[in-house]
Order: sequence, then C-alpha cells, then structure tokens
Amino acid sequence: MNQRISTIITCFFVLLFSLSMAWSQNGKFKVALDAGHGDHDFGAVYNGHIEKNINLAIVLKVGKLLEKHNNIDVIYTRKTDVFVDLIERANIANRADANIFVSVHCNANKNTAADGTETYVMGMSKNASNLEAAKRENAVITMEKDYKQKYEGFDPKKPESMLGMTIMQEEFLENSIALAAKIQDNFVKLLGKKSRGGGVKQAPYMVLHKAYMPRVLIETGFVSNPVEGARLDSEEGQSEIAEAIYKAILSYKKDNFDGEDAASDNVKPSQRVEEVIVNTPVKKDSVVKKTEPKKVLVENEKPTKGVVFKIQISASAKKLETTPSNFKGLKSISMTQTPAGLYKYMYGETANYEEAKRLLTEAKSKGYNQAFIIAFKDGKSVSVQEALK
Ligand SMILES: [Zn+2]
Repeated sequence: MNQRISTIITCFFVLLFSLSMAWSQNGKFKVALDAGHGDHDFGAVYNGHIEKNINLAIVLKVGKLLEKHNNIDVIYTRKTDVFVDLIERANIANRADANIFVSVHCNANKNTAADGTETYVMGMSKNASNLEAAKRENAVITMEKDYKQKYEGFDPKKPESMLGMTIMQEEFLENSIALAAKIQDNFVKLLGKKSRGGGVKQAPYMVLHKAYMPRVLIETGFVSNPVEGARLDSEEGQSEIAEAIYKAILSYKKDNFDGEDAASDNVKPSQRVEEVIVNTPVKKDSVVKKTEPKKVLVENEKPTKGVVFKIQISASAKKLETTPSNFKGLKSISMTQTPAGLYKYMYGETANYEEAKRLLTEAKSKGYNQAFIIAFKDGKSVSVQEALK
C-alpha cells in the first residue's frame, strides 16, 4: 500500500516536473531586438540625425512595450551605445533560442526626397536598390577585427558572395515574410507611412543570415529626408514606430505561437501560420513588386453580405492566376492582397461552418497541411469565433 502511494506521489512529481519544464521551454515567446550600429559605427548621419541613436531609441521603446507581457521575454543585442559585431548580434539571438529576430535600422539616400519604410527578409536579390541597402548595412563588418577570417571571405561590397555560404536562407522565409508583412501593414495602416516598392523585400543581410529563426530587418525611414529624418529623431516619431512594430510582433505571436485564438479546433497552434507559402517560391529578385498603400483589396469577387467562411491555403509574395492548375486542382480560389503587398489565397466560400470544416479537410487532403478557416462579415475579416456568434 505504502509502495503504491509512494509510486503515485513519485508519478505526480515527475508529471509536475515535466509540465513545468514544458512550460518554461514553451511558455514564453522570446523576441530578440537588434538596434543597428553603435559606438564608433554611427550608421547613416544626415542633418545631425544619427542612425545608431534612433535605432536604439526605437528598440528600447519596443522592448519596454513587450516587457509588459509576462509571457514575453525580450533579448537585446545592445541596450547602450556600444559596438557589437554582426555575427555576435545574431549569436545573441541564437543562444537565447529566440522565436524571432528583429533588426531596426534607418535608411539613407543621396536623393534626399526618398522616404518611406521597407522591411527585409533574408534572401538573394537582383534588385539594385535592395542590394544597395544590404551593402550599406553589411559594410559595418569592415569595422570589426579580422572580419575576413570571421566571415569566411565574404566581401561586403558583393552581398551576393553570401549566397555560396548560405544553405539556410529559405528555411525561415515563410514566417519571416509573415512578420515583415505585419510590420509593413502597421506602418501603412497606423502611421500612414509610404511602403516603398511593396514594403516587404528580400536582400542578403549578414546579420539576418546568421540568425537561425524567423528574422527581419526594418528600415524605419530615411534619415536623409529632412522631414522624415526629423520625425525619426523625435520622441513622438520613435514612439509611433515602436508601437507599430510592437503590435505587429504581438499579432505574429498570436498567429504563430499562442494558439489561444485558434481559427479552428482542427488546427494545432504550431500550424497556425498565417502567411504560408505553399508551392509558390518567392522570386529571387525583389519580393514584392508594387503595392499602393490600400486596404485589403479583394479580387475575383464582390464582398458578400453576412458571414462567410473561407479556407486560407497559402500566402505569397507572388501573384498567381487563381486557376485550379496553380492550386493542386482546387477550384473557387480567391485572393486578397494585404497593404504590404502579400497575396493571400483562399479556397471555397460558405456561410455554413460545418461545410467550411469539410472544405478544410479537402484542402488538407490536397497537401495544404497548414490551411485554416478564416471568416468574413460583410466583406470584412473577423475572427471565426466572432463569425460563429
Ligand atoms: Zn543601418
């Protein structure tokens, strides 16, 4: 009897221990924030507006907002005006096993009229202006000691030389694009910022290359533009940018990490990847060609009155014809475009939730394993819970 009780007690504690381990490992969403440049590396400087200071101010504000959440850990690559190697910035995030890596920078251009925001994901680009931005940010490694050995012969003047070194560049692309799109969406929606060339772009950034998690680099605006530069260098301007980034991170966390607001009980939290690229490889040049900062644009259909369920099967930077041949034979594909220029592809349309579940099963059977149900009310996107009310 005593034997049995002690076994039960032991089992209970083992269970409790494993639960607490699972909680400590999975409970917190870890955000690595990287304020670009520092110390003798000033970044871009125009009209007294110094990039390294602006980057740090924005990052500290984003961090402060995130730290209010008990279930979020914030990791900083720097909290003061110090110089940190690019590879070390990535490694700080790697060692902390961060869920996402967010690098904050400011843009600059000899053409002082240039303005607007861009968010980069890691990848190769043939687009000259993307490469130029990457070159400018990668150039800081020449300020590091032994950079030639450290970066295995990488030539910062030729960002494409990184390609030979990279095998992981596509690995976190889907989630990186999802996060980047949310950031750009918020810049457009909340701040009325101009999203340059579609906003979400691809370029070979060394700091992203070395971070092994979904990773983005934000060019928050142009310090070289007198108006935007002054705004970036103001308390108010930094606060609103920080707020937009913070909200995008929360939204990303909710979609990809929490699972508490799962769109469907068929979908496991880890599968709730909102922007999934399925069989639609991102072009090797600029991810998104062109988008006007507009609200969600619905093609191939008029907004339907009342509640409608659809199955989101994929999202991509690439615009595809909504023909069955492009979607594993599935008919009735519709598409929307986010303000940041990402195309979302949806299957079917029904007012009946049971029918929506059937459509979801069908989409999954075709290989869209990460598909999930989304809902609209009078043409506007709502949560499935809200639609079911
Ligand atoms: Zn920079």
